[in-house]
Amino acid sequence: MNPPKRKRYLPTLDSLGSLREDGSRRIIHPAEVTGKWTRLRRAVFAVLIAVMVALPWVRIRGTPAVLLDIPGRRFYLFGAIFGAEHTYLTFFGITGVGFGLIFLTSMVGRTYCGFFCPQTVFIEGVYRRIEAWIEGKATERRKLDQRPWDAHKLLRRGGKWAAYLVVSLALAHVVLGYFVPVREMARLVLDKPSAHPEAFAWVMGVTALLAFDFGWFREQFCTILCPYGRLQGSLIDEDTIAVGYDTRRGEPRGKPSDPAAADCVDCFRCVEVCPTGIDIRNGGAQLECISCLACVDACDDVMLSLDRAPGLVRQDSAKGFAGAPRRVVRPQLFIDAGLGVLGLAALTFSLRQVVPFDLKLLRGKGVPYTLHGDDVENVLRVRLASSGALQVKLTATAPGATSVLLPISDVALQADKASEVPLLLRGPRGAFSGKAKVTVTAKDEKGRAVSAEAVMLGPDLGAASSSAP
Ligand code: SF4
Ligand code: SF4
Repeated sequence: MNPPKRKRYLPTLDSLGSLREDGSRRIIHPAEVTGKWTRLRRAVFAVLIAVMVALPWVRIRGTPAVLLDIPGRRFYLFGAIFGAEHTYLTFFGITGVGFGLIFLTSMVGRTYCGFFCPQTVFIEGVYRRIEAWIEGKATERRKLDQRPWDAHKLLRRGGKWAAYLVVSLALAHVVLGYFVPVREMARLVLDKPSAHPEAFAWVMGVTALLAFDFGWFREQFCTILCPYGRLQGSLIDEDTIAVGYDTRRGEPRGKPSDPAAADCVDCFRCVEVCPTGIDIRNGGAQLECISCLACVDACDDVMLSLDRAPGLVRQDSAKGFAGAPRRVVRPQLFIDAGLGVLGLAALTFSLRQVVPFDLKLLRGKGVPYTLHGDDVENVLRVRLASSGALQVKLTATAPGATSVLLPISDVALQADKASEVPLLLRGPRGAFSGKAKVTVTAKDEKGRAVSAEAVMLGPDLGAASSSAP
């Protein structure tokens, strides 16, 4: 049986490009396109994917370049080490990056979506290419959609989804590498799944999610779920550079042979290549447009083949398309850039205050205190951790007549390895009542210091009031 003839799809502004009139999903198979923007995008995708895959393997001063160690409650970032106490820094980070993105959007629209968003990078840079490799070009894929489930279709679709699952599994391990050090991950991979059921379930879950999102859900994430796309309308203005169609030059449309027609030859190439299924000629700044510039490359190709100037579909401001001069510098940019710089400056300043080592006071094992006649004794452990090799000096102070014994005061710290030093407190019973505390300070050669306190425990004070873990 021949598949039904495909009717040309005409996107309008009244519905999503990925929806049919009856509300069902229209699977989009964007046509192949070449051109300078496509080449640039591919290069950007390759660099981003290479960086993402390589980062978990990179170590700086002996610590992972990027690692969120959830059980250890630490975050390693390019040689710095952060604990839960540094959570406030995320506020400055989000403020700086958020306003930076708003500034970028005000300047050049959704360039982030088309070039840098992981959703685009993986769909266009990996999954769509696998699909084209196994199922063929867009026209062949559309025919395959219409074809009944025979052996040919089962083989192609099955092969494609098997490849998606393999790639998703590999990607899930890359993601896991940001949470588990790679050496530890290698051990998890080589062990039986039953030895690490949580890690196994986590990787399987992420694999399924990636295959579902990049293999099937695709552009629906951008149009239905992504809040950034929804905000676009409020972030751009008539001076923002965005993808658009030059109506003054293109209309009225018509065949190249039609003397009354302007430059648009109504060839639909710009629609055929669009990964979100829209017609850019319906207007720039459409909700679904991710600024991938595929339509720009496609139309330039058509124009050049007709010996006409490229740029009928191009990146320009609304004013530029109307033939008016564009303002580059405008108040909104100053506000966005100012707030972004403020957030990043606060983050930079705060990061400079972060000490690259950490000190915790822990109770000694066994009873919280011991009595020796009228004297009380507490044994504590000073735990030190660092993001790099460092030499620190320990000092301890306790109130009253309490004597403090620190058998080791000069400690050589190694990257990513905790060191422990015992601390002995001894003094008259009265000194170990109330809220009396011992303070321990570690200071490195550059004068950077961290301190921790612990309540001294005695028979007149319950162990529950201890501030040490
Ligand atoms: S690709 Fe260019 S010429 Fe062809 S329909 Fe789109 S705007 Fe018109
Ligand atoms: S309209 Fe053009 S730039 Fe926007 S998503 Fe479609 S092809 Fe990409």
